[in-house]
Amino acid sequence: MYLFKYLFIFISLFTAFLNPISCNNQNIGQQQFHNTHYTNNIMIKENNPYYSHTDTNKLNLSDSEWKHILAPDVYAIMRKADTERPFTGKYWNTDQKGTYYCAACGYKLFKSDTKFASSCGWPSFFEQENKNATIYRPDNSFGMQRIEVLCSRCEGHLGHIFNDGPPPTGMRYCINSLALDFIPD
Ligand code: FE
Repeated sequence: MYLFKYLFIFISLFTAFLNPISCNNQNIGQQQFHNTHYTNNIMIKENNPYYSHTDTNKLNLSDSEWKHILAPDVYAIMRKADTERPFTGKYWNTDQKGTYYCAACGYKLFKSDTKFASSCGWPSFFEQENKNATIYRPDNSFGMQRIEVLCSRCEGHLGHIFNDGPPPTGMRYCINSLALDFIPD
């Protein structure tokens, strides 16, 4: 009986330890890593001094610097072009009003009113926040000819763009949830 009691206490403490440290909004997801503060629609990541919603200066950090300031799953996607499994990300089927920012540098990337329901399993947008928000590169990996989408400020990998999206653009920005931070309106 005592064993179960101590097991329960241990599990309770362990669960509490895993909870976000200082987020006051439960819609804020993977930012629980690296001491994230979220107040007045501004996100601050204590371990990432380059993260900003307003600074538009381009970043040119070394790979080791990125590895130091990004959570491991975010680093794998944004610096090594990994892809999260479909239907597993935090935002693939959400429709809350707000703004999506680059998870690595905080740059404004997409508005929720350009997000659409897609069956692909990743968050999908038909347009970026402004014409300078994202940049593109040919990606011929895995025997496919695709176009990679990157954040224009930090050149972090976001996902890929396809021409099978809805009007008015006909484009589909297929983006990893882990590459995005969402701040609701
Ligand atoms: Fe970025």
